Amino acid sequence: MFSKILIANRGEIAVRIIKTCRRLGIATVVVYSEADADSMAVEMADESVFIGGAPAAESYLVADKIVAACKQTGAEAVHPGFGFLSENASFAKRLAAEGIVFIGPNPGAIEAMGDKIESKKFAARAGVSTVPGHVGEIDDVAHALKIAGEIGYPVMIKASAGGGGKGIRVAWGPQDVEEGFPAVRAEAKASFGDDRIFIEKFIESPRHIEIQVLGDKHGDVVHLFERECSIQRRNQKVIEEAPSPLLDEATRAAMGAQAVALAKAVNYDSAGTVEFVAGQDKSFFFLEMNTRLQVEHPVTEMITGVDLVEQMIRSAAGEPLAFGQQDLAINGWAVESRIYAEDPYRGFLPSIGRLVRYLPPEEGGSGAAKVRNDAGVREGDEISMFYDPMISKLSTWGPDRLSAIDAMGRALEDFHIEGPGHNIPFLAAVMDQERFRSGALSTNYIKEEFPDGFAGTEPTAFQADLLAATACAMHRRLTARSAPQLVRDEWVVIAGHDRRKVRLSNGGDAFHVAFEDGRTLSLTQIDWRPGQPLFRAVLDAQPFTALVKPAAEGFIVRHRACTRHVLVLTPRSAELHGKLPPKKAADTSKMILSPMPGLVVSMDVAPGQSVQAGQAVAVVEAMKMQNIIRAEREGVVKAVGPKAGDSVAADEVLIEFA
Ligand code: ADP
Ligand code: ADP
Ligand code: MG
Repeated sequence: MFSKILIANRGEIAVRIIKTCRRLGIATVVVYSEADADSMAVEMADESVFIGGAPAAESYLVADKIVAACKQTGAEAVHPGFGFLSENASFAKRLAAEGIVFIGPNPGAIEAMGDKIESKKFAARAGVSTVPGHVGEIDDVAHALKIAGEIGYPVMIKASAGGGGKGIRVAWGPQDVEEGFPAVRAEAKASFGDDRIFIEKFIESPRHIEIQVLGDKHGDVVHLFERECSIQRRNQKVIEEAPSPLLDEATRAAMGAQAVALAKAVNYDSAGTVEFVAGQDKSFFFLEMNTRLQVEHPVTEMITGVDLVEQMIRSAAGEPLAFGQQDLAINGWAVESRIYAEDPYRGFLPSIGRLVRYLPPEEGGSGAAKVRNDAGVREGDEISMFYDPMISKLSTWGPDRLSAIDAMGRALEDFHIEGPGHNIPFLAAVMDQERFRSGALSTNYIKEEFPDGFAGTEPTAFQADLLAATACAMHRRLTARSAPQLVRDEWVVIAGHDRRKVRLSNGGDAFHVAFEDGRTLSLTQIDWRPGQPLFRAVLDAQPFTALVKPAAEGFIVRHRACTRHVLVLTPRSAELHGKLPPKKAADTSKMILSPMPGLVVSMDVAPGQSVQAGQAVAVVEAMKMQNIIRAEREGVVKAVGPKAGDSVAADEVLIEFA
């Protein structure tokens, strides 16, 4: 076994690997870039080595610097995590040449599986069912049209070297091929330096189901069942679970056997993932193999009790697998939510900045529910524009699927982040959807369930009670503190269209909340003091956590995906409130605001210029993504705010019309 391992990665996965090394008594070294000098991984590792500038091309992707860091610290092996150099066969070879062990599969397996065309040929030979299509390179548009016609529309045009949801396009007819083929080819060239393209059948409304495999250097391979990752946005995973609600025992065994056969055919000797698309009829087709630890590995660990990082380290050290297929079983159900720094209310635009508040839910738990949070950040850390916009991976386990989902709903309630925008309300909305709970998943789920984007949800009956009770209780506590003579029992609570009389009696740790329809609920075990952002209590025997913030005449309260400004008024001021003219919002129709914080790459209009609706007027970069800002109406530019090179805040005025 190794005595010192170097981790060639950052963020949550570096922290994750350090935790296992600590448990195994292995010393750790992390490398870090300029942006990560104060990171949690650097703080936790036994040693750290600075390797260069914040852009990955100057640090995490430079093999020479990783090798030098190993030599300097005496690390005997490198765990690459995922992304960066994890699927780079020449990096694995280079380490071997330097006498350093790569904690991952042998370079031959990476090469065989790293390329989608080659891996499909390999899979077909190993008896794995592949997506019907043309397993070979496509020369030009004419060739592409011929192949697409033979396969039958719709088809998917794919970059052989693609990854991360990039270099993929669906074509519904010949015109899409004419446009799409050159586009995918250009994207592949730019992103992967390799413009080989192939075409396969597009499976409509499929599910993404993948098999976790694990091999050793002695020819043994087992599988650790499946994960379903159908909840995707732009071909990128958002919510994953294990096992899959689609599979029965026979399909699971068949997919597992094919994945193991493929792994054995390439002498696979580490942890890896064989991805499939599956039809709703349980037909399944090989997509690709990822020759590394997978982002969503925690859900597999939670249902099998196997630490995959530990097994990778043991395999790399030459140990034979300590268990066979018959020793593995599925225990319960696990769900993972990717907490991203993005603003779900604004089309999921990337959002960066400092984690002003970062309060994750408590980890651990019992046989009824468990919570795990894989994070590499602490309060005060910066979500940088240089890397992946993931803040953490929140996973929950329960004895069955619905209890795991319910545990996730509760854990999301208990997760509080301030600073960058985040997708927690969106994830909570999915957990509460009947379709998600019923397991009727597909990769179109988000497109179908949120066709107009995300705007939060309407309160359920329970949430309407919760909003009223919580706001009244907070109001009473604040009043008791500041003006005890004003404490009273009768209030009118207004939350959007919901206007109701509420009677709040008793006090201390429990309240009786009486509504005008005659119902009386108890609000007990209140855990909140003025100034705290989270209000925890039990309403009508249901534990909940709400996010609360004082606001004019009341509070802003969010429970899961439902946010409301809740007014708490005396009956007299409620009467006056009803007579107020509705407030007018500021007129921003004559301005174009920056939809996100970022860097102005170009300002494409000047004062005096007339623009058309839809015309590109500026480009703002955030999270390495260039966002084209377009005019929503025609007009003549009166003034421009920032110029190229300036940074802008969200809602900062970019352009003003005359
Ligand atoms: P990447 O290397 O980017 O992960 P994949 O080949 O795994 O590329 O595809 C990414 C996602 O695109 C899959 O998870 C699936 O949702 C969708 N997809 C890929 N191929 C097909 C196909 N032939 N039919 C339908 N959906 C597909
Ligand atoms: P926080 O980010 O502090 O955890 P929320 O997630 O509730 O709080 O809301 C984030 C921001 O999004 C808030 O500033 C709020 O104004 C805005 N917001 C919340 N709910 C909605 C909604 N339904 N529609 C539009 N904007 C919303
Ligand atoms: Mg994939």
